[in-house]
Amino acid sequence: MDFRSFAFHPRILSGIEAAGYTHPTPIQQQAIPVILEGHDMIGVAQTGTGKTAAFMLPILHRLAERPGDHVRAVVLAPTRELAEQIHQATRLLGRDIGVRSVALYGGVKKWPQAAALRRGVDVVIACPGRFLDLDGDRALDLSHVEVLVLDEADRMCDMGFLPDIRRILALLPNDRQTLFFSATMPPEIRRLAQGILRAPVTVQVDAGVPAKTVSHAFYPITEGRKRDLLLALLQGPATGRVLVFTRTKSRAQSLASFLSGAGLNVAAIEGDMSQRDRQGALDGFRSGEYEILVATDVAARGIDVEDITHVINFDLPDSVDAYTHRVGRTGRLAKTGHALSLSAPADRLLRSWVEKAVGKPIESRRLPGFDYGGAVAGEARPGSSRFARRARLRR
Ligand code: AMP
Repeated sequence: MDFRSFAFHPRILSGIEAAGYTHPTPIQQQAIPVILEGHDMIGVAQTGTGKTAAFMLPILHRLAERPGDHVRAVVLAPTRELAEQIHQATRLLGRDIGVRSVALYGGVKKWPQAAALRRGVDVVIACPGRFLDLDGDRALDLSHVEVLVLDEADRMCDMGFLPDIRRILALLPNDRQTLFFSATMPPEIRRLAQGILRAPVTVQVDAGVPAKTVSHAFYPITEGRKRDLLLALLQGPATGRVLVFTRTKSRAQSLASFLSGAGLNVAAIEGDMSQRDRQGALDGFRSGEYEILVATDVAARGIDVEDITHVINFDLPDSVDAYTHRVGRTGRLAKTGHALSLSAPADRLLRSWVEKAVGKPIESRRLPGFDYGGAVAGEARPGSSRFARRARLRR
């Protein structure tokens, strides 16, 4: 199948060519015809599947077929980085129709965004807070919106955006097409979708299952030895473009300092950093200036960097969904990737859930030559003879 089978406007096809896409991905094959027919849709798909083009190409086709002079499509996204990425993809794919798109998010000055709106835009890509803020300033005319996209709806709800989303829905014309994308569909997200969408068609690719192109391994280790094991992994098997996840913002910063002190090219990205610093870290990671990016879940949401070879869970996430989201950054579009998790004994339950999601047991590895200090998490615990022997030796 190729993109010509969708009967897109010729200038959309040239945008696709400019982006270098030759064949539609599975979500694009399924979603594009449904959206072109005007249906509401639920797309169950992770970032990395090509979902942005799946919803944006039909929007651009609509703009090309019937040019107008109003905001015609609104895309809501949970994070600034994701909004910016969607905006860049829109500009590239819509290059030949001269699409006017703007990304609205907090953490940067409001007036340039308001000025862009005044000059006139076709597509608004926004985080909910700044969108409402600008609407409060009367900078937005929403009376001609034809399409609403909720991207990463599950994440928006996790981040507490549900009340904002409801307020935004009330501002938009009722007669519109609504496209709802989510990596997972737990009951509360399903209820939200049912309340918003009219006779939606559901399109699903590998929901909740880590991509088959990703290999998974656990490295049992005690908390005290994690940093050194990570360093050894980064100096050894995990060379390439590596995304490391920590549980908290402060752990992301201190880990990045530690790795940088050890001579590695590393940057951190976390929610307390200024928008400029976050973008700088992301751009540096994308360009290869930094080989390693240490991130928290929220900051990493929607990060679209090609060729990430390894995702390392320095701290395991607290759910299988979050694990799936994290490892979805590697092994994209049929390239192979590796998900390595430093795991402590307390992670045993999560590990069994991940094994269920992956559909097979996950290998436990020991890094050859690494000094585990005599104890590997999950092997020696207080009360075990090995622990007792070490304790006696120290006395
Ligand atoms: P997304 O899931 O929208 O974040 O897309 C993930 C990555 O896949 C982005 O870098 C896109 O540019 C890329 N992509 C999307 N569609 C295609 C396609 N049909 N062929 C090749 N790459 C694609």
